[in-house]
Amino acid sequence: MTPLPFARPELGAAEQQAAARALASGWITQGPEVAAFEREFAAFVGAPYACAVSSATAALHLALRAAGVGPHDEVITVSHSFIATANVIRYCGACPVFVDVERWTGNMDPSLIERVLTPKTRAILCVHQLGLPCDLAAIGAIARRAGVPLIEDAACAVGSEIFVDGGWERIGRPHSDIACFSFHPRKLVTTGDGGMLTTRNAEWDARFRLWRQHGMSVPDTVRHGSPTVIFESYPVLGYNYRMTDLQAAVGREQLKRLPALLEDRRRRAERYNAIFSDVPGVVLPAAVAWARTNWQSYRLGLPDGIDQREIMQRLLDDGVPTRRGVMCAHREPSYGDSDWSCGAGPGACGCGPEHCDRLRESERAQDRTILLPLYPGMTDEEQDRVARALARAVTTREFVDS
Ligand SMILES: *Cc1c(COP(=O)(O)O)cnc(C)c1O
Repeated sequence: MTPLPFARPELGAAEQQAAARALASGWITQGPEVAAFEREFAAFVGAPYACAVSSATAALHLALRAAGVGPHDEVITVSHSFIATANVIRYCGACPVFVDVERWTGNMDPSLIERVLTPKTRAILCVHQLGLPCDLAAIGAIARRAGVPLIEDAACAVGSEIFVDGGWERIGRPHSDIACFSFHPRKLVTTGDGGMLTTRNAEWDARFRLWRQHGMSVPDTVRHGSPTVIFESYPVLGYNYRMTDLQAAVGREQLKRLPALLEDRRRRAERYNAIFSDVPGVVLPAAVAWARTNWQSYRLGLPDGIDQREIMQRLLDDGVPTRRGVMCAHREPSYGDSDWSCGAGPGACGCGPEHCDRLRESERAQDRTILLPLYPGMTDEEQDRVARALARAVTTREFVDS
């Protein structure tokens, strides 16, 4: 039997034509397609401002800069996330201070934040784990009390929603100070690579635009259209974090597909839930009343006594690829003893290895969950194949006892 895909982007004729349109226009980097994608994305999530960049990592870096994060500052975040979440804090010379996650939602535990707040805390960076919104109301209240900005790593959360003041709102309005999205091919909307910052702060939006293009005072789009000679200047240190018009043209088509894609994923996830509610010991994905995930990934908790690697191997042998639970940055060698960028050394500011015993749920979530195949166009038959392989794997005797 041919193996199933684990995930795949939904790209078709519309995206091909859009890319061809951008190529034919003669303007291929940050230009009119980027501007249109920003407008359409802002309208989709309900944000006053949206600024496109080259990746979510770039977006997060700029968000932290806008928040004023610099050397020797601390930023409270989770270790249990893709490593870019913690890395961007170190890009600023600051120190990530990790708090543990809630069991099974995998999201930042708001009750643990206050104890790690210090005078050096410069921002809180929360993550919507695999698309499931974290508790923005609780975390936002803590950030406001502490007087520090809250930034959302919404890399996985395009199309996710939370219930606010009697209605559903999309992640990215934003419900914090800045939300950062990813358009990597593993996310629901892809531009190959790409990212977006949304904010309500006009001044920050202007800064993102300056920083993403080398700190250039007058963008090339303006200079090219000007009847008079313009000399640009470089008032601040910037980066090359541009999105290309090729990417943005594709992103605009992807955005049109998103509502149907979301509906399809919800239906598939509910079908998985119904199937697995009969399998003894497995823990279904967390559901919270005030949030709707976009089902970026379908995550299952493993029954006790079942080895993660072994069950993943058994499923793979059956042609069903899976992924282990989301990583924990603090377990990676680049977060070992000697490589902290804050300069204070491990432990001096609450980071470092001795912090790790406080991250028990994070480690458990990485080790005791697996992600199952979920992709556009998945059929009932294919889902049933995943279900049969999983049921077989968890009920095999010698395996359970090992
Ligand atoms: C994918 C992802 C990122 C990084 O996104 P890029 O666009 O690849 O830079 C950051 N944080 C989380 C939670 C992610 O899932």
